Amino acid sequence: MICLLIKQLLSLLSCTVQYIRSQSDWPTGERFAHCLHELLTIASVSQCRDSIMSSLSVLPPECLLQPFPVPQRLMLGPGPSNVPARIAAAGAQPILGHLHAETIEIMNQIKSGIQYAFQTRNRVTLAVSGPGHAAMECAIFNSLEPGESVLIAINGIWGERAAEIAERIGAKVNTVVTSAGGYITNEEIEQVLDKYRPVVFFLTHGESSTGVVHPIDGIGDLCHKYNCLFLVDSVAALGGTPICMDEQGIDIMYTGSQKVLNAPPGTAPISFSERACQKIFNRRTKPISYFLDMSWLANYWGCDDKPVRAYHHTGPVSSFYGLRESLAILAETGLENSWKRHKEVAEYFHKGLEEMGLKLFVQDKKARLPTVTTIVAPPGYDWREITGYIMKTYNIEISGGLGPSAGMVLRVGLMGCNSSKANVDKVLEALADALKHCHKSRV
Ligand code: PMP
Repeated sequence: MICLLIKQLLSLLSCTVQYIRSQSDWPTGERFAHCLHELLTIASVSQCRDSIMSSLSVLPPECLLQPFPVPQRLMLGPGPSNVPARIAAAGAQPILGHLHAETIEIMNQIKSGIQYAFQTRNRVTLAVSGPGHAAMECAIFNSLEPGESVLIAINGIWGERAAEIAERIGAKVNTVVTSAGGYITNEEIEQVLDKYRPVVFFLTHGESSTGVVHPIDGIGDLCHKYNCLFLVDSVAALGGTPICMDEQGIDIMYTGSQKVLNAPPGTAPISFSERACQKIFNRRTKPISYFLDMSWLANYWGCDDKPVRAYHHTGPVSSFYGLRESLAILAETGLENSWKRHKEVAEYFHKGLEEMGLKLFVQDKKARLPTVTTIVAPPGYDWREITGYIMKTYNIEISGGLGPSAGMVLRVGLMGCNSSKANVDKVLEALADALKHCHKSRV
């Protein structure tokens, strides 16, 4: 370091002498000051350039030349949740080729893990390379063709998004809507199935924007009665509250890696029933997305009859390691134990909130999503100040509302390893403290 400094000073000095000599027509004092200023500028730029041995006009960004320390945080928002050391360590294993035998074995194990988590025997079960939205688009792009009719249940932002995605591919979109915090009854669903005769019915199992777990029983049978596929978004609920794909007649279901599964964001398990496969593999038109085309993906994941897996895209191998480990943890824990723990912890949390005088946004106790709790934004407070205070003082993330619940609620996620009474105690303490310290106007 000292040697480098001396070397740079000497080179600066020698440049200075040469430069002053070359400017011989100026008066000496003025010439010296001018030269020194110019040389210092040239020297600092050229030193930086020299350090990467490059003459490029865009220099390496200063910010990337320093390390970036990522803080430890307790992630109690609606996702992503904390990644346990075991899953993080799995993701840090050496990279393998995305079609190496070991990677294929890991992918096969992921398929079995998803079949267990979804409670399905569907052959076409895999993980999309991408976040929950990728699985959402995969489900919609493959199951619908332009001009076909889709019915979407809207009780929060995820139904709204699904409707927009379906509209973008030219599907005929009809909706059945209820207010934020509510859900749609089977009677209402049957009425609209009968009225619109859709080919797909979309429903969100765990509405993370409102904190509602939608009842599922009986809807699969209704859909099949009307010759319609039942498509379920369980991104925010899977693993934390009961759902059994085959038993409940669900034809397409997907989730995300970053919620109850506690893996980093970026892979999204999805599964298609035989009935769904009949439709998606016998289309008149190709799906709009090459990347999300299930004919390709089913082959890449070895879910078709072809003897070899062809290259489609480079799978996120490290993310597969992490997902495999998170599914292994779920298998070791047992689904029923996981559902039970999430329920008990959520109820413990809800009781604590009510004891503090806070109100839960979802009135119907049975419809409270155990993974994401919505709390009515405390009257007189700015919710942003509360979430900001808790982040700054306790290093805990909780969040405000989203879509139809924006400005109305605080949202707390207790998912996977984060679903514990110890975490509930921490967040209750942080909330009570925030209510004491944040500014309260007269209501
Ligand atoms: N559906 C639901 C119910 C969700 O909660 C989320 C994520 N909050 C998504 C879909 C989208 O997932 P991602 O952010 O991973 O794209």
